[in-house]
Amino acid sequence: MDKNKNGRGLHKVIMDHIIRATAAEDYIRAFAASTKDMTETARKAHNSSPVVTAALGRLLTAGAMMGIMMKGDDDVLTLQVKGEGAMQGMTVTSDSKGNVKGYPIEPLVLIPPRENDHKLDVSGAIGRGTLRVIKDLGLKEPYIGEVDLVTGERAEDLTDDVAQSEQTPSTVGLGVLMNKDNTVQAAGGFIVQLMPEVSDAVIDRLEANLKNINSVTELLSQGKTPEDILGILLEGLDMTVLERTETGFRCDCSPGKIERALIATGRDELSQMIDEGKEIEMVCSFCKKKYIVSVDELKKLLAMAQR
Ligand SMILES: [Zn+2]
Repeated sequence: MDKNKNGRGLHKVIMDHIIRATAAEDYIRAFAASTKDMTETARKAHNSSPVVTAALGRLLTAGAMMGIMMKGDDDVLTLQVKGEGAMQGMTVTSDSKGNVKGYPIEPLVLIPPRENDHKLDVSGAIGRGTLRVIKDLGLKEPYIGEVDLVTGERAEDLTDDVAQSEQTPSTVGLGVLMNKDNTVQAAGGFIVQLMPEVSDAVIDRLEANLKNINSVTELLSQGKTPEDILGILLEGLDMTVLERTETGFRCDCSPGKIERALIATGRDELSQMIDEGKEIEMVCSFCKKKYIVSVDELKKLLAMAQR
């Protein structure tokens, strides 16, 4: 066994990233991501329970990969889950550069693990509902797609839903593995897309390869990278790695955005806040950062709203 210079032994420090690859003469397009830090950042921001962290981490992972499929610098993808379960739902937003952020509606849900395999019951926490995909590609109207959530006993919750929501036939794997102390041990996923007129031989090979992947988190916690995972998925299919993109939970909230949101509430609302004579606290839903707005600042915003 060799040790690296900083003495961490075999513990490779792998930053969250997404690999984009192509295979089978471009009939297959594939993405794989490691998202441990992203999911842990989300967990800390929302102080979420294990089942909620697992759900949000999966959606963040899907959002990060689907985000980099978009072409434009200003394109925005939003994934919205709404469910009848205790968690109620969650929202994830990403861009084409690997930036992703998200929040659960109810972060503290605690429900018993599934009876059959003792895994976190993500599907039980979300319940029946829908997954909505909103792509704002700078066109007049955003693209909006919606699928009903598949409920029931599945090895990987939310994966079928994300696959269903894609406009291209896709195979999806998403996973989050928690430590006993409720921190994130491993997180990541993959999306494999099949282009039209792909041959049966290619599909057969891909299906055979998929059987070699039991769970994404198992591979990641063994130290496998997104490149390694794509290597297993696309073995014998002549894979070419096209791009490596850093990814992470990054919120773009700012005092300016908070001010614009306050101005948008209108004169009546602002006047009422000023009349109350107290500074107000605004909290970003995505990252939980707090912004204090003084009465004087509110008065300035009122003046701007009047113009
Ligand atoms: Zn924020």
